[in-house]
Amino acid sequence: MPTISDLQSNTARQNVEDAIKKAKENDDYHALLSITEKRALERADAVDSGEVTGRLAGIPFVVKDNYLAYGAPTTAAARILENFNAPLQATAVEKLEAEGAICIGKANLDAFAHGGSTENSAFGPTKNAIDPTKVAGGSSGGSAVVTALDIVPFALGSDTGGSIRQPASFNGVYGIKPTYGMVSRYGVVAMASSTDVMGCFTKTVEDAELVMSVMAGRDEKDMTTLADYFHSTEAEGTYKIGVVKETLTNDVDESVRKVTNEYVQKLKQAGHTVEEVSLPLVKFSLAMYYIIVPAEVSSNLARYDGVRFGRRAENVKTLAELYGRSRDEGFVTENKRRIMIGSYVLSSGYFDAYYLKAQKARTLLIQQFDELFKQYDFLLTPTAPTPAFGMGENVEDPIKMYLSDAMTVPANLTGMPAMSIPAGVSPDGLPIGVQLVAPRKDDAKMLAFAKSVGGVV
Ligand code: GLN
Repeated sequence: MPTISDLQSNTARQNVEDAIKKAKENDDYHALLSITEKRALERADAVDSGEVTGRLAGIPFVVKDNYLAYGAPTTAAARILENFNAPLQATAVEKLEAEGAICIGKANLDAFAHGGSTENSAFGPTKNAIDPTKVAGGSSGGSAVVTALDIVPFALGSDTGGSIRQPASFNGVYGIKPTYGMVSRYGVVAMASSTDVMGCFTKTVEDAELVMSVMAGRDEKDMTTLADYFHSTEAEGTYKIGVVKETLTNDVDESVRKVTNEYVQKLKQAGHTVEEVSLPLVKFSLAMYYIIVPAEVSSNLARYDGVRFGRRAENVKTLAELYGRSRDEGFVTENKRRIMIGSYVLSSGYFDAYYLKAQKARTLLIQQFDELFKQYDFLLTPTAPTPAFGMGENVEDPIKMYLSDAMTVPANLTGMPAMSIPAGVSPDGLPIGVQLVAPRKDDAKMLAFAKSVGGVV
């Protein structure tokens, strides 16, 4: 398992060539949409010549293909952006490059990050790293799989409702979703601007700390970013952890409950206080999420008109036909479903009944979390209700697919940091993660705690 520090003694060229070779050997998983070989090798030579130095000098990584990055098109796994070449790079990528890290490719995702399995990619699904008959999870499925397969020591994802944590759980790696505003979203294709955050997948907590510390901080180009408060630290003494009982009902897969309970025992043995707590509004968070997020999606996707970005429909006679056909051909079914739901909940007759009500409920949810965090350092839940499900199993049933997000969406609605820790496996060997949630800006404390307790990678 090469970690960042394992790779630091090699030349950058060696690391990049090894990573690209491994990526090509694992082509069957369809985790990558492109390999940025030419640019990666040029950058490797710049590191090896001493021109570029830094804390991540010569370390290869992968970005989800909704980050704007040079060297290959940024498609967001949707046909409408198929040939879109980024005119600039995402701030997160720029910051990593400034420390000498080298992007070797762009990972598959559900189109525009809408989904939880990577089956909504317009370019075909990604296979699970442990069992290729299962889904990779999503929407950052490709990033999770390249990390799990040891192609690169870290990969970037975006998390709007669980898209880093759920695939991390499905592939047995760490997945970090920071506090809303800790990492700039500038240069990443927007999904839902009030919940989008950028984070990473790694095999160790130490590597996550390093990557997050490089990406964190205020960016004048993203007005929601916070001044850098992230400083890696060590756990001190014992902590109080609340286990959210609404996330451990009988609807949750038995193997997931077992692994979570075992993790609770592990925490207790390490001397921490673990108590059952209740967050009654958690059971409504999916309903809130699937109103608020489509509303924001319908607005953010309005800019893809076939004129300003990407692909344009051909042989059209009128402007209306140009917009209509470009959007019809360029979006996948799930994108269209969300645009329609979003437009509906924002329309004048329904705004109060759906959108406004969901926002009010969201405020109450935030209050319930804040109240519990007066007494507890962290909250613990499973990351997802099941281990990775079968390819095709949930595609025809969007509600079933959405249920997979039940435990991850609350941290997005509240802006709190959360992570998935690989904690065990199901009887048939599929990875299972547990989720830690912390108060806003306690990202470093959360990682320190996870580091002290450990996981099963
Ligand atoms: N699965 C969730 C959804 O479909 C999360 C997506 C995400 O975090 N990008 O909305």
